[in-house]
Amino acid sequence: MNLKFSITSKGNAKSNTLMHKIRTYLQDFGLEYDEAKPDIVISVGGDGTLLYAFHRYSSRLDKTAFVGVHTGHLGFYADWVPEEIEKLVIAIAKTPYQVVEYPLLEVIIRYQHGGKETRYLALNESTVKCVEGTLVMDIDVRGQHFERFRGDGLCLSTPSGSTAYNKALGGAIIHPSIKAIQLAEMASINNKVFRTIGSPLIFPGHHTCTLRPVREQDFMITIDHLTLLHKDVKSIQFRVADEKVRFARFRPFPFWKRVHDSFISD
Ligand code: NAP
Repeated sequence: MNLKFSITSKGNAKSNTLMHKIRTYLQDFGLEYDEAKPDIVISVGGDGTLLYAFHRYSSRLDKTAFVGVHTGHLGFYADWVPEEIEKLVIAIAKTPYQVVEYPLLEVIIRYQHGGKETRYLALNESTVKCVEGTLVMDIDVRGQHFERFRGDGLCLSTPSGSTAYNKALGGAIIHPSIKAIQLAEMASINNKVFRTIGSPLIFPGHHTCTLRPVREQDFMITIDHLTLLHKDVKSIQFRVADEKVRFARFRPFPFWKRVHDSFISD
């Protein structure tokens, strides 16, 4: 069977040129370009480009492996540099390749008045904020009330997303081999009257974390780079998804080395 591939570009000149080069090279090796049903998706740009590619192919995650080339700075998902593409193309053409799987976040939004629930998968995180005023949410952990949150917002992230928004909120960096999700606060109100735990919480695969609005509010809910306005929300449930994202690995590049090279020095 011929390996089918597709390429997603960030859209700038450098990424587009590289995209055309990779496409020609892979076709020269006899691989078929198939945008609808690729076995492998090559993302050219940055981590943001890979997020876009992930959502584009989220309905066939079990059949698709992703690989990222960065045309700017080193990314967590985009860890190949343009100078290495000949090497990458040869590696892709010489299938089978190794696949590593990372956990995803499942988000289920339920609505008042019996509205149909919506389900999303996030590769990095989902955040919940208010359109107006302070966000007030009851937080349940495994169906038990844990605390009432008042503040700017809440962020639920995956291990591979823990280096993104979550990190800016003081959350821990979690190795993606750990099946977990993390809850981080955005500017909680803490005084003699209102109290939250204050620390990020890490939930294992079999725990759910549910947010229940205390008052009628409209919410801005993000799923990675996508922002959606939700009205009449009854609850937002988070857990580790059954689905996983698959990355094609052609060489070792340990996660902690990526963390070091991205945030300390390369
Ligand atoms: P953006 O605002 O254009 O870029 C956000 C930055 O986050 C980019 O530098 C991107 O890297 C980087 N990034 C994405 N995923 C990452 C990961 N897993 N680990 C480390 N860095 C990561 O938005 P975007 O490109 O559409 O990406 C959406 C993401 O932005 C969200 O999922 C969220 O994590 C992040 N974000 C962060 C903050 C914050 O840190 N305060 C606030 C809002 C959103 P590239 O340059 O390689 O694309």
